[in-house]
Amino acid sequence: MLIVGITGGIASGKSTVTKALRDANFPIVDADVVAREVVEPGTRALEKIKLAFGPSIIENGQLNRHKLGNIVFSHPAELNRLNAIMQPAISSAMRDKISFWRTQNVPILIIDIPLLLEKGYENLDDIDKIVVVYADREVQMARLKARENLDDINAKNRIDAQMPIADKLVHADYVLDNNGSQWQLEEQIKNLMVNLKEIAPKYGTK
Ligand code: ADP
Repeated sequence: MLIVGITGGIASGKSTVTKALRDANFPIVDADVVAREVVEPGTRALEKIKLAFGPSIIENGQLNRHKLGNIVFSHPAELNRLNAIMQPAISSAMRDKISFWRTQNVPILIIDIPLLLEKGYENLDDIDKIVVVYADREVQMARLKARENLDDINAKNRIDAQMPIADKLVHADYVLDNNGSQWQLEEQIKNLMVNLKEIAPKYGTK
């Protein structure tokens, strides 16, 4: 099975790319969904977050993600603490999902994984090819602000909390340039799909 990681900066267009691949019937593992599952009520990761950030971070048994986001995106040290809790939990859950798809005999598995290249991530070995969705910082800022209704400072904090997108490009096997229109992105996605289908047989079905 060929495992393809889709990554890029926040609001660079990863979800748009993943949606197109899902519509084309590629199986997808979404790290954001996994990241939510590992902090559901009763999980060990949620207990650890409660210890690290205090009980007020939990409301009615649920993690208050907005509150946590505001803490960690303006304090890099707090973000590191959160990542130290989240990444092992996510890695382990991701490995379980990959194992499941290996039993399904699919030729290609797509993993939508925003933090693939960020420090401390443990899944890199499983990924055969890395796709980086790229948009210039100004484009990223404008789309992030529009999507989440953020002001300049909060949008900037969220972008600065991530590895600079240019550093991610170094690791890319494929780069999708999303500075242009949705249509231009779609064309690149089509080419990517053709290429992945061509190389997939080399990776077998397991
Ligand atoms: P990510 O998953 O990387 O955070 P999204 O795919 O959600 O990014 O894209 C960020 C925002 O920008 C979304 O609101 C999306 O609809 C919009 N968007 C993505 N690609 C384009 C494009 N080529 N032109 C205009 N808007 C876009």
